[in-house]
Order: sequence, then structure tokens, then C-alpha cells
Amino acid sequence: MPHPVTATSGRIIRVAVVGSGPSGFYAIAALFKQEEHAVEVDLFDRLPTPFGLVRGGVAPDHQNIKAVIRVYDNLAQQDRFRFLGNVMVGRDVTLADLEAHYDAIVFATGNESERVMGIPGEDLEGVFSATQFVGWYNAHPDFRHLRFDLAASERVIVVGNGNVAMDVTRILAKNPDELASTDIADYALEELRRSSVREILILGRRGPAQVAFTPKEIKEVGSLEGVDLIVDPEAMELDEVTRKWMESQTSKTRRQNLDYLTEKSSEDPSGAASRIYLHLLVSPTEFVGLEGKLKSVRLEKNELYESEDGTPRPRGTGVESSESIDLAFTAVGYRGVPLPGVPFDDRRGVFCNRDGRIFDPSSGSIVPRQYVVGWAKRGPTGLIGSNVADAKETVELILEDLRNGRLDAPADRDPSDILRLLDERGVTRVSFSDWQQLDQIELAKGQESGKIREKFTRVERMMAALCPPTPR
Ligand code: NAP
Repeated sequence: MPHPVTATSGRIIRVAVVGSGPSGFYAIAALFKQEEHAVEVDLFDRLPTPFGLVRGGVAPDHQNIKAVIRVYDNLAQQDRFRFLGNVMVGRDVTLADLEAHYDAIVFATGNESERVMGIPGEDLEGVFSATQFVGWYNAHPDFRHLRFDLAASERVIVVGNGNVAMDVTRILAKNPDELASTDIADYALEELRRSSVREILILGRRGPAQVAFTPKEIKEVGSLEGVDLIVDPEAMELDEVTRKWMESQTSKTRRQNLDYLTEKSSEDPSGAASRIYLHLLVSPTEFVGLEGKLKSVRLEKNELYESEDGTPRPRGTGVESSESIDLAFTAVGYRGVPLPGVPFDDRRGVFCNRDGRIFDPSSGSIVPRQYVVGWAKRGPTGLIGSNVADAKETVELILEDLRNGRLDAPADRDPSDILRLLDERGVTRVSFSDWQQLDQIELAKGQESGKIREKFTRVERMMAALCPPTPR
């Protein structure tokens, strides 16, 4: 769709968006929606496939969540949009290249890494992060090489009780037949079919009023066929700190979670073959192994204390126990990965920013023409839709900077120059129509085996399937 070059600036504003997940696409949506300036966007992704966490993070049995891709597809159809897939910023193009070719750069790289717990034994064989497991079952090329020996594992723990912990628990406990028609990686489905996992212990470091999952997600876990969700009634008794804190809490989610967990804690287990235990007020203190392989986990009972802002925080009571386990998954949150040259807040795992404008922590000054959206801006919170308002906030800042003349036009303004630069460097970029070809191949392969799609799991195979690349 052609766009008007408005009188406001008289020039086309060229924006590089780095990262093609939801936050990147919602930034593009906000850029295209505003009417002050004509904007063209180049969307970079290190993978040949777009959509970030919607493709590589959302669970295969949550296809309805992936329906947001339709919105992204519509944006990609506009002729002011180009996808530059298989191009890694920091390797194939530098920050300086982007600065030379674009008026503004928006980092939308999400959180590609995970928080570590920082306890002994986290590097043992058999201890995995949820990021690894999720990437593996979702056919992400970075994780397809991992081996989860589910056949030899009966008892596993999942540390953390957010929605990622729920995804991991559900995929482990669900009847694989129910996953067979989804877009789960074929090797993951095979391994899940061989699984001997019968007990999953979900460990929450705080109490039932502070669980991080949402009611829909815990109810889904509690309704799995052939599985008992077991909640200890004693764990449902709220301590003094929590009772006081609850008086100031207005969240409906918290109340719904408490009601559901109370109901579950009063149910007798049905005697199902598989059991999920929700253990609360407990923290792992050490993963213990033998010859490098995980064997058990040491646990410490917690109590809650009132922190300075009134939030109940956990602390160990010194009461210890131990559980034999075969596998452990830590689902304690994500963190971002730095990009060369972009100021990064290592403590929070996000780019240094003020509401979306990148700033240099050593001088405190704003870095001109650099912005951030999504988890790379605010950390790993909220649902996919939370990125709509977040992206709008950042785009408002870009518009404000344009109005105030803070976005100098880069020296090199011809849109074909960046493509020439990539060609000169021998970088084979993947366009959106190339991706649509890959999409069609995946859908057709899926149809052959009765699945929604069979994803490519290797970048080389994607590139080979596109060979020779379509002329642009
Ligand atoms: P999260 O919701 O922040 O949950 C992290 C969990 O890890 C919390 O229970 C937290 O406990 C715990 N934790 C953190 N550090 C810990 C430690 N050192 N020891 C023990 N436990 C620790 O994060 P998430 O589950 O990674 O999810 C990220 C975001 O994606 C969330 O907004 C989530 O709702 C969203 N998401 C949504 C869906 C869906 O809609 N189906 C699916 C997946 C993810 P404390 O509360 O005590 O810190």
C-alpha cells in the first residue's frame, strides 16, 4: 500500500527494526499507523523465519495464541515493509552500518537467554532451563541438538511457577497423542511418546497468593487427562505477612488462583498414573549429581517476610530436605542478550533505556536514534498483547524526536544500499516472500503427516530449500 509523504518532514523516515517477534511487529504497526511521517521499515532477523517467540516459544498446543501471526502477515504485505531474514546484527551488519542507513533503529530482540538460579549443580547433565526445553520442542534451530532422556526419567522438577513453568509441565504431562497434530518438532513428539515421566514437582519459592501463573494456565494443567494435580492443604494456609499484603491487592487473578488451588487442595487424588505436585514455600539449594549426572535436589523450606515495599519475599528457614529426581527444568524467567555497541543493563538483562530511548549509563545521556521495545526494554513480563501499548510508547518517542529535530538524516539514504552491502559481504538474505515459500513447504509437509505444519529445524535446510533465492 503506497503511503503519503507528508508535508511535516517531506522525506521518508527509514527505520531498522531488529528482531521479528511480537514486539518488533507491534512497533511496525505503530510506525505505520501514525500519520505524521511516511515511514519505511526494514525488519532484520538472524533466523530465516519471522515471528520470534510466537514461532519458537508459544506452546504447540496453544495454536489459538499463534493466530496473531495474521496481523503480522498483513503488515508484511505493505510495500513500505521489507524482511531481511538470515541477517544477524552484530555479525552480518554492524550497528554503525545501521546508523549509516536508517533514521532510527528499534531493538526488538526480546529475551533470548534465561536467568540462572546461581546454585551449585546447575551445570549437571539433566538440569535444563525452560528456554532450552521450549526451544527444543518448538523446533528452534538453536536447540534441536539437545537430548532430553525422557525415557529414562520418572521424576522431574520444574522450578518456578509462572506460565512458562506451566507450559513445560503441560507438555511433559500431556498425552502425546494430543500433541501429534500440532506443529511440535517430530523428534520431540517421538521422545515424549517414549517418556517415563510419572511425577512432576512444581516448586514455588513463595506461597499460594504469590504464584505467577494465570488461572487459565493452572486450570489447563489441573484438567489434564490421566493426571492428578495435587496441592497440599497445609500450603494453602496464608501467613500473617501475606494476609496483610492481600488487603492491598486488587488483582482478580490472585483471587481466582487462590480459589482454584483451595478447591484442588481439598480434592482426593483420583489415583491417576501421573501426578503433578505443586510445592510452595520451597527453594532448591543444590542440584546433586553422580559422575556429572543429576540425581537429586536439596531443598529448603521458606518463610515470607515483608520487604521494604510491603511485598512478601521468601527467605530460607534452615529446614532442609532432599528429593530424588531424574531431570530438572528451571523456569525462573528470561533475560536479554547484549548487542555489540548497544548499552546493556546486565543486572536486569535489558538494554539501558528510558521508556524506550536507549541511554548511555556512563554519561547518562540519550543515544540518538536508538530505541527499544518489548522484553528487551522492560524485561520478561506480560502477554503478547502487552507489546501493543509498549511499542506505541516507544514510537511516540520517535515521533517526538522527529518533531524536535533530534533525528538527523543518515548520510546514506538509498534503500537499495543496505541490500548491496549485504550482497558484497556474501550474506544471503531471506525476504518475506522467501519465508512464505518456506511456510508453504512446512504446511505441505505437515499435511503429509496429519500435522498443522512440520517445521524446518535447521537453517541450512531452509536455505537449501530456497536455492536459488528468488530474484528481488
Ligand atoms: P514469570 O511469570 O515471571 O515467572 C517466573 C517464576 O520464577 C516465578 O514463579 C518466580 O517466583 C520464579 N523465580 C524467579 N527466580 C527464582 C528463584 N531464584 N528461585 C525460585 N523461583 C524463582 O516468568 P515466566 O514464567 O518465564 O513467563 C514470562 C512471561 O511470559 C510472563 O508474563 C508469562 O505470563 C508469559 N507467558 C505467557 C504464556 C501464556 O499466556 N500461556 C505462556 C508462557 C509465558 P517469584 O514470583 O517469587 O519471583
